[in-house]
Amino acid sequence: MMSDINELNLKTLLEHAHIGVVIHRYDTSIVYANPTALRLLRLNYEQMIGKDAFDPQWSFLDDAGKKLLIDDYPVNKVKRTNDRLSNEVIGIIDSSRAEISWVMVNAYLEGTSKDNNSFIIVTFTDVSDSKELFSFQDIVENTQDVVIVTEAEDIKSPTGPKIVYVNKALERLTGYKKQDIIGETPRVLQGTLTDNDAKRRIHKALEDNLPVTETLLNYDSTGRPYWVEMNIIPLKNKYGEVTHFAAIERDISERKFHQEQLEQRNKDLKELKRNLETLVEERTLELQKAKAKLEKIAFFDPLTNIPNRRFFIDQANKLFSACSRRDSLVAVGLIDIDNFKVLNDTYGHDVGDAVLVKLAEVFTHLFRIDDAYCRFGGEEFAFAVAISQTSDAEAMSHRLLSSIRDIKLRTEAGHTLAITASLGINVQQATPEMDLEKELKQADMAMYEAKKSGKDQFVLTRDPSISSCQK
Ligand code: GH3
Ligand code: MG
Ligand code: MG
Repeated sequence: MMSDINELNLKTLLEHAHIGVVIHRYDTSIVYANPTALRLLRLNYEQMIGKDAFDPQWSFLDDAGKKLLIDDYPVNKVKRTNDRLSNEVIGIIDSSRAEISWVMVNAYLEGTSKDNNSFIIVTFTDVSDSKELFSFQDIVENTQDVVIVTEAEDIKSPTGPKIVYVNKALERLTGYKKQDIIGETPRVLQGTLTDNDAKRRIHKALEDNLPVTETLLNYDSTGRPYWVEMNIIPLKNKYGEVTHFAAIERDISERKFHQEQLEQRNKDLKELKRNLETLVEERTLELQKAKAKLEKIAFFDPLTNIPNRRFFIDQANKLFSACSRRDSLVAVGLIDIDNFKVLNDTYGHDVGDAVLVKLAEVFTHLFRIDDAYCRFGGEEFAFAVAISQTSDAEAMSHRLLSSIRDIKLRTEAGHTLAITASLGINVQQATPEMDLEKELKQADMAMYEAKKSGKDQFVLTRDPSISSCQK
């Protein structure tokens, strides 16, 4: 057993050390490298000894990954600055391998003279495992997604769990500063409209130490609400215990807004379609009604609802041609109410209207489908009928006047109105040249005669050419 430390073989110690040791002369040529150094530099002893630091086989990187200038190589730096190098992280690239070996380097000058009686001792340990090419911290800190880390304790407490880390994205999104939000609970980001069911689901997952994904309404420091889609993951220590939760969240307000807008628009469109359909149905019905009304207005008298003059002219002309083909007689008549002006003046215009309606009913009742008749205007009515002989016209005239006489109309005051009319009727052999206007003129003249003769009667005129068998 050794009792004196000075008896220790230092060279043997270096041979077994787990730290790389390279000893340079002052001119930087290598005089010794221990096995760990050779292993770390991936060289054998022969390759190493006698070489200097300028050997182009190596190149070195600084901690940041930038190539070191030859002057800054550890041994050269010590030589140049006369200073020791302590705990500097350096990457070693050698031409045989793409991978970089990272070492932590210490170096110092052993001796005082600036000649080969002095040595430069370089020691280094492998730190490749802990040295990363890039920083995960940087990624988390600078990502667009919000990252919040909380402790795993105090999940139940209204003031817990405590936030221990937030990244820049959280500051940007919420307006909270790191120093304000660290130590708070993520609950400060929630508000009145935050969905309670979603909150419960998150809580349950955290209690069970399970990851969870939710979409939640949060509020920024000014109270503005925003939607986040969040993944929460439990973080475990090396014993497998959950010590923290990390929430990774992204603002989906815009997406949510567009989605809601889209849903609303679809709803609106569906509604619009429904409305349009009912509108079209309604309009179709309205149009049909309007068309029917127009047809009526065009061909029927709105007060009495019997054909108007326009319809009559058409009907009468058709009748004339039909009669002319059959070589039959036509009777054209004009009826004018007697003393209608007085009636209007005595009982009012409404009563006058009621009389006109009653008269129209009489005509509707008496005339047949082939007959042409109308309210000719005011209190005058016209008709044209096919007859086989003049006596038919006479019989018809009697029937018409007596039906008018029979009209029973009581005024509000209880008076029963006596209504009479005068009728002029002209009978004619139907010909293709027959002219309605001329016929009406004849009838009008006859009617005038009837008035003159005391009213409530008819005057019949007829074409002298009518054959004797038809008289
Ligand atoms: P006459 O026996 O000579 O025919 O006497 P009259 O009073 O009937 O005289 P006239 O034919 O000149 O007068 C027609 C009156 O009919 C005038 C007008 O006030 C009335 N009249 C015309 N159209 C309407 C109507 O639509 N409703 C009502 N209530 N009166 C009408
Ligand atoms: Mg008149
Ligand atoms: Mg009259």
